[in-house]
Amino acid sequence: MDDRELRQYCANVLEELEIPERADVNALCDHLEDIRGRRISLIETPMPTGPGRPCGLWVATAEEDYLLYQKFTTQAHQQHIVRHEIGHMALGHKAAPVMPDEAVQLLMPTLSPDLVRSVLGRSQYSNTEEKAAELVASLMPLRAEGMSQRRSVDPGMAKLITHLGRSLERDST
Ligand SMILES: [Zn+2]
Repeated sequence: MDDRELRQYCANVLEELEIPERADVNALCDHLEDIRGRRISLIETPMPTGPGRPCGLWVATAEEDYLLYQKFTTQAHQQHIVRHEIGHMALGHKAAPVMPDEAVQLLMPTLSPDLVRSVLGRSQYSNTEEKAAELVASLMPLRAEGMSQRRSVDPGMAKLITHLGRSLERDST
């Protein structure tokens, strides 16, 4: 696929999504939740920085998708990171699979760089996949507006911690 074809492909994928007009990032996540039947949580967190390091991460547990984005950057950049990760989602790329205990750690206020590196290693996208996600993100007709924390983070975290607690109890008996 050359660049022109890739651009057309991404435009088609985006069109099929039928994103509601004037959707902000939260409305976009709501829309994707409806389409995919899976909850999406947005998590602002300090990400390890450096050349070639992504500023976002899409991880999937059995029941939920988490989009992590860099805490230490502008809100406009954060919105772009989320759109980029949603681009991967819309294009049918694979999320980094995480175990429930890793998911709990990812939701903690301080994120271990080692964990991020290890999870990132499981979501190595090809250059074409990265380019496509970036194209979808840039083609999204979104309002540039404030990004509030999504309401779904807390129930998801509660569920995971309960889940983890139960499995710990099982192990110790
Ligand atoms: Zn990417």
